Amino acid sequence: MDQISIEKLVVFGNHGVYPEENALGQKFVVSITLYTDTRKAGRTDDLSCSINYGEVSQFARQFLEDNTFQLIETAAEKLAEQLLLKYSLLEQVEVKVEKPWAPIAIPVETVSVKIKRGWHKAYIALGSNMGDKKGYLDEAVEKLKQHPLCQVGKVADYIRTEPYGGVEQDWFLNSALELRTLLYPEELLSLLHKIEAEAGRERTIHWGPRTLDLDILFYDNCVIDTPDLTIPHIDLQNRDFVLIPMAQIAPYFRHPVLGQTMAQLCQLLKMNL
Ligand code: ADP
Ligand code: MG
Repeated sequence: MDQISIEKLVVFGNHGVYPEENALGQKFVVSITLYTDTRKAGRTDDLSCSINYGEVSQFARQFLEDNTFQLIETAAEKLAEQLLLKYSLLEQVEVKVEKPWAPIAIPVETVSVKIKRGWHKAYIALGSNMGDKKGYLDEAVEKLKQHPLCQVGKVADYIRTEPYGGVEQDWFLNSALELRTLLYPEELLSLLHKIEAEAGRERTIHWGPRTLDLDILFYDNCVIDTPDLTIPHIDLQNRDFVLIPMAQIAPYFRHPVLGQTMAQLCQLLKMNL
């Protein structure tokens, strides 16, 4: 992706672990790389199609002067987050915070932290088979919409499906949604667990009745296998209650391991049922 760079912006801030640093302040040097598509701005010569680096520089300086953090890790993290939330054309950002006067009692030219952060695209499956099923799904969509680090895109129609996994129980209401998020996969899973808990979800019988089930189907094209998290979500190619909503909202999205699109997987499953 195209890059717009701001190099070695000098800021006077109060960040540091020592109280003296918070009181006296010192010099910080900030470099920022904005990852954005500059094609339209390049062809139209119109600033409103791009990100104004002057404005970003002013914002970064103000932000680092108005806030005090102990760690330059946090200064970089919060600045990156603010920029990603403020500029809708910004897909990713790299922030480097240097602290040339760091009080470490030995001569050093500079110390620094450099991070890269950005928006991720996830797909979430929603399901409920107890109580006010539609109400639980609506509430989950609403809570994701309200979360500061999430943006909900397309939401699939709610469909009625039969229970899966051999446990005798009521029919399900299922859906899927597209999410743009700054959360990491584990953080997103924690958020989903919190929303499930708020809906009164209790984990008793595996695959048993639930007020609300929220699963991460995909996270970019990541393949993750840890004890707590499997992405792409396990066995989704055999679950019509996942593939029907996914084929509606993301028919051309390709499963990163199986290589087929959601529309193709949905079609294949229908033929085999
Ligand atoms: P299920 O969704 O399979 O019916 P649960 O909702 O009770 O069952 O989830 C059980 C565990 O599955 C969660 O605690 C979570 O750690 C784990 N898990 C693994 N991968 C995922 C994923 N992609 N999305 C959601 N949960 C996952
Ligand atoms: Mg689940």
